[in-house]
Parts: sequence; structure tokens; C-alpha cells
Amino acid sequence: MSGALGREAAVLDAADVLRAKRAEFALADGTVYLDGNSLGALPGAVAGRLADVIGREWGQLGIRSWTESGWWSAPERVGDRIGGLVGAAPGQIVVGDSTSVNVFKAVVAAVRIARERAPGRDEVLVDAATFPTDGYVAQSAARMTGCRVRAVPAADLAGEAGPRTAAVLVNHVDYRTGRLHDLPAVTAAAHTAGALVVADLCHSAGALPVELDAHGVDFAVGCTYKYLNGGPGSPAYLYVRHELQPRFDSPLPGWNSHADPFAMSPAYTPADGAARGRVGTPEILSLLALDTALDVWDGVALADVRAKSLALTDFFLRCVEEYVPEGRVESVTPAAHAERGSQVALRCAGAGAVMEELIRRGVVGDFRPPDVLRFGFTPLYTGFADAERAARVLAEVLGP
Ligand SMILES: *Cc1c(COP(=O)(O)O)cnc(C)c1O
Repeated sequence: MSGALGREAAVLDAADVLRAKRAEFALADGTVYLDGNSLGALPGAVAGRLADVIGREWGQLGIRSWTESGWWSAPERVGDRIGGLVGAAPGQIVVGDSTSVNVFKAVVAAVRIARERAPGRDEVLVDAATFPTDGYVAQSAARMTGCRVRAVPAADLAGEAGPRTAAVLVNHVDYRTGRLHDLPAVTAAAHTAGALVVADLCHSAGALPVELDAHGVDFAVGCTYKYLNGGPGSPAYLYVRHELQPRFDSPLPGWNSHADPFAMSPAYTPADGAARGRVGTPEILSLLALDTALDVWDGVALADVRAKSLALTDFFLRCVEEYVPEGRVESVTPAAHAERGSQVALRCAGAGAVMEELIRRGVVGDFRPPDVLRFGFTPLYTGFADAERAARVLAEVLGP
């Protein structure tokens, strides 16, 4: 560590109310890990839980574990735990499938509900800079339901929702720039227009407070392997607002969402509640890894997470400004706190090669085409000294 910013980082780390959380993660020595917005770090307790699930629950109890170890009800139980992080009262979130699949369920179901009220609605609004999978899935969902997709800048979604709009699909935080969108405003505008909202929380859940119930969001989806640290390919989640559950008509009605799955009935009768969002057999190993990964949130106030996230990203930007010669990088992450998620994105010539060299020197972020360096700040295990070192190494890589 060097200089005034290094000393300031030490002071900030010493005063950090979340600093004890870092010890709950298994982090590689000598590495500054700033890619938790892509794959969260490993919570140390996960390995022991998985060993028990595999050795005892699967190995010894076998099929009995579906009931005796609580496997069958785990998607809703773990969903309720995620609910605590996204402002959702129990009974509205189910865990399973990927985000991509849940976007499909949510967009089709939103269009179907909007059409019940107004059959002429034929438009799905999406944010033009959406994560690709959401856009691809929305296109197909629109084609299947006789709608067309209209892509508009996220900032215009609220203003563009109109009498033809059936559903509005919004990424809460832009994966590339880290811009935080105004979910309450988009939701209110969609509702005024008579449309439903589907929010993708991949880059906000676990990074900042989300208030799904309070804002009246209709559907929400998100992955659990980014800020929720569930592990590679851990199952995603689907939120369906309580009042909408009876009208939620899933386009993927599998046997697991049947009201009585073991009746093995040829006729489909949907389950009540969050279970209606299920499709097939749950991903038990990765679901229970996620269950234990969520223990790191015990006793954590999301207001503290948000405050530290903003302090970290502010501090990193200051260090970059101090260390990196003028004009070499340009931040595309909003300066305003109200518009910032929990990452810093820097445009930089030759960003791909620059990131490769950063990783070689122990600073792990990622590169998004065409020219963006992404640095994710995860307040439970990232410290201010990490931010200072990352900026210093970036300056070294870029040269004088
Ligand atoms: C990470 C991410 C996804 C990933 O979808 P998968 O189905 O898990 O691959 C989707 N949408 C957004 C906005 C993301 O950031």
C-alpha cells in the first residue's frame, strides 16, 4: 500500500461496520476480487453443507430426503429467504431454473394478464441496452403472444408506456454501465398505462435495497450467482406479486407446479402461491449450496451494504482519477448515487488486453465489449484497500 490514499483506505477499512463479514468468504490470497457482479465469491460454509447434502442426505437417506431433509419445499423456503433481501413478504418467490427461463415465464404471464383486461394490447417494451438474454427471450415471448417488442432507452420506459403496452421489461441495474434505473417510477408509469412490469434484479439483489412489495412490482426475476454468491449456475428466482398469483398463467406448466404433483393426473391444475412458478424437479445440490450461501446475510442491514457500496465506488473512482493519467479511461458509471448500482465501468482503449493484464497481476474484474472494464464492488467482502490496489495496478498496466 502506498501514499495518502493507501492510508485513507486503511482508516476506512478499520471503520467499516461490515468488515467482519469478509472472514465468512474463502478468498484467494493475494487477489483483489472485483468480479462478484459476475460470479460471487465462495462463502466458506458452502463446502461443508454440500458434503453433508451429498454424503448423508443423498448418500444415506436417498429418496427419503425429498421429505425428511426438506428437499421438496426448498424452492419456496429459499425463495422466502431471498424475499428478505428484495423487499418481498413470504410466499411470493420460488427458486429454480435460470434467469433466462424465468424471464420467459414472467413476460408471457404478464402479457396474458394485461390481455385479460384489454385484449388489444400488443406491445412489450424493453430497455434498449438490456442484457442480451432478456431481449432475446422477450422477442420470442412477444412473437408467441402476438405482440411486438419495442426497445427504448431505459430512461424513457416510463414515458413510453402507453395504451398498447402489455408489459414493460426493465433491468434494474444496467449490467454494462452499472446505471441504476428508477424502478418505482417505471412501475408507476406502467400501471398508469395499464401494463405490467417485469423487473430483472440480477445486478441489484444483494447489492442494494430493493422494495418489490412497496413499489408494487408485478413480476421480478434474478440470478443468485452474482451478489448472492450461490455458485456457478445456481438457480434463479421468480417473484409473482401476491395479488397476481391466482391469475399467473405460466407458459411452462410442469408437474412440479401442479396442485397435486403426485396424483400424476393427466389434467393440469396449477398450484396456488409461489409454487405455481415451478416447472420441473428442483436443482437440489445448487439450491442447497445457495441456501447456505445466504447465511452470510444474517444480521446484515442492506442500508449498510448500500452505504459501503457507494463509498467503495466513490473511493475507487477517486483513486483512478488520482493514479491514472488523464484521458486514459472514462467512467460510464453515473456519478450521482441515486443512479449508481454497485460496479464501476470504465471505457478504455484496448480494454480486453488491459483486463487480461490486470488479472495476471491479481486484480480480477472483467471486460465487456466493445471497450468496457467492469469492476464489481461487493460490500460483504471487498475492502477499501482492495479498491486502492485495483486503481494503482490499473495505472501501472496503462503506463505513464
Ligand atoms: C447475469 C444476467 C442474466 C443471466 O441469465 P442466465 O439465464 O442466468 O444466464 C440475465 N439478465 C441479466 C440482467 C443479467 O445480468
